[in-house]
Amino acid sequence: MAITHEEGSLFDIHHPDKSAYKLPPLEVPSKKPTKHLRESTLGLPQVSEMDVVRHYTRLSNMNYSIDAGMYPLGSCTMKYNPKINDEISMLDGFKNIHPYQPLETAAGAIEVMGRLQDLLAEVTGLPAVSLQPAAGAHGEFTGVKVMRAYLKENGGVRRKMLIPDTAHGTNPATSTLCQYEVVRVPNGPNGYIEASDVERLMDRDTAGIMVTNPNTLGLFEKNIVEICKVVHAQGGLVYCDGANFNAVMGWSRPGDLGIDVMHLNLHKTFSTPHGGGGPGAGPICAVEKLRPYLPSPQVVQKDGAYALEYNLPKTIGRVRMAYGNFLVLVRALVYGLTLGRDGLKEASTIAVVNANYILNLLKADYHLPFGPTCLHECVFSDKNQNEFGVKTMEIAKRLMDYGFHPPTVYFPLVVPGAIMIEPTETEPLHEIDRFISAMRAIAQEAKLNPEKVRTAPHTVFVKRVDETVAAKKLILRNNSTI
Ligand SMILES: *Cc1c(COP(=O)(O)O)cnc(C)c1O
Repeated sequence: MAITHEEGSLFDIHHPDKSAYKLPPLEVPSKKPTKHLRESTLGLPQVSEMDVVRHYTRLSNMNYSIDAGMYPLGSCTMKYNPKINDEISMLDGFKNIHPYQPLETAAGAIEVMGRLQDLLAEVTGLPAVSLQPAAGAHGEFTGVKVMRAYLKENGGVRRKMLIPDTAHGTNPATSTLCQYEVVRVPNGPNGYIEASDVERLMDRDTAGIMVTNPNTLGLFEKNIVEICKVVHAQGGLVYCDGANFNAVMGWSRPGDLGIDVMHLNLHKTFSTPHGGGGPGAGPICAVEKLRPYLPSPQVVQKDGAYALEYNLPKTIGRVRMAYGNFLVLVRALVYGLTLGRDGLKEASTIAVVNANYILNLLKADYHLPFGPTCLHECVFSDKNQNEFGVKTMEIAKRLMDYGFHPPTVYFPLVVPGAIMIEPTETEPLHEIDRFISAMRAIAQEAKLNPEKVRTAPHTVFVKRVDETVAAKKLILRNNSTI
């Protein structure tokens, strides 16, 4: 953007004489009963139509989005979402239905859910699916509740849950929320979980393990089959955090590896735009023996058609109003059907190739703690730049001057000063090359002109925010008085 504006609040340009439109005075006596009239004004800013339009247009221009450029935020799979998926989810028949309209008038919607369940069951190798959870973390919560309900009926509730150091942060949070005591599993020297560690920690009071696979180092847990066996031998269950499914679609089915239950992030892998807190979906897929415990209602096949089943005596209950975020489900089905079996596999292949391309072209400049290859994302650290007093956060801020959204920083925790880059399959080569050039230029600057990097960003409107103050001193109201 050539012009950057100081954009204040609409309250700053409030003037009582301004308004977006004016109606002529009433020609007939007003019949509004005065008792229903507000005594004072609402306190909203009075501005002209153009003031409003410019204000919001400028704000939207300040926003960075995947439609504007590369968004290499590791562990988030910020990929381009084909517009056809949005368009189909916006068809009247999908958009304008109501969750409480008579079910016989919503057979198409139920079929969309049923067919999506079938598709997800096939790509995960796990036949029992619930589309209700609204996000990844919500899927974890639902899945672990299902594990808990199953264990309660099969040998009794257990008290502990194994969580590897390379797990996503939501995994220990979920376990705690579901009343489990978290037991840490260290990762081995090469970043993988060792089956021997799991064997040592797994006992009859441990519900199982939550494994993020591929893990947050962008590595496929190569001991996963062995780990599942060790957990099962003690009567436990294996949860897989499948938010990073973009790396393995069509290549590996968690169900075939011994996983019992997992979630997928449709808003990462299956084409719903995310970031900024919009609606998502975190369906769970489970082995057959967990089906009775899935949330109610379940979409089932009855007499050759899909129908809702409410008669589920063992269900953990509802985890979401209505049937989940329906339009996200529509997008996911369209995405799956347009790509098909081969297309999904190819998407994962390209995502992995892109990440490895970056890994190889940046490893001369940035320290690579684990390797030599990765799956869908690569994790560097700021170790080389530390020599010149430059840290990860500053590299990330400097990238903004080069026109890129920064990657994920300081995560995973097992890598000090981590810089986690996930290009996804939708970035074209010329954009990835531009990103690599920017990262290399920053590495050069860190050596030759570290101050320039330390004080970045220089060109963007909002430079550095005080994150501690932002977190501790919430200002949720505009204090302008009109
Ligand atoms: C994004 C992510 C989550 C959480 O998903 P939300 O939809 O944000 O709740 C969990 N695990 C992993 C590995 C993730 O990348």
